[in-house]
Amino acid sequence: MISKVKENIFQLYFKQFGSCVYVLKIKAKNILIDTSSSTNKSELLNDLKELNIKPKDINIILITHRHWDHNGNIDLFPNAKVYDFKNIEKNPIKEIKIIKTPGHTDDSICFLYENVLFSGDTLFHKGIGRTDLPESRPEKMQKSLEKLKKLDYKILCPGHID
Ligand SMILES: [Zn+2]
Repeated sequence: MISKVKENIFQLYFKQFGSCVYVLKIKAKNILIDTSSSTNKSELLNDLKELNIKPKDINIILITHRHWDHNGNIDLFPNAKVYDFKNIEKNPIKEIKIIKTPGHTDDSICFLYENVLFSGDTLFHKGIGRTDLPESRPEKMQKSLEKLKKLDYKILCPGHID
């Protein structure tokens, strides 16, 4: 299902378990933030089709962290450059600010674009992400949340909405 966040930002969410996918159009580039779980493949493709975007038209994929429910389906996008914790500094879209927020996982990243915060599994509308997973860094979560509090954002786009 598609929900419009802003003129150039769409939120895709799915019936089955998996993260939301955010579609951003910035300077003629099609950008995805997270790609959900592979079980949501056909729904993801249908939603993109509805937005008039072909898989080959996706230029950039930004991954909030390494969990499988956020980074399935990457192989659907033959022309996309994928940026995650390892190479995120090379992301060419300078309008998207990178905020490293270890806690839920050690490699969690949030993205700020204009007044919209994409918070992955770090921050939800009704709370924060789990920090009891093997790859979590619970001792770092508080500091990460304080970083987010200082940001000037109006719209929260979390990794999961229910
Ligand atoms: Zn996660």
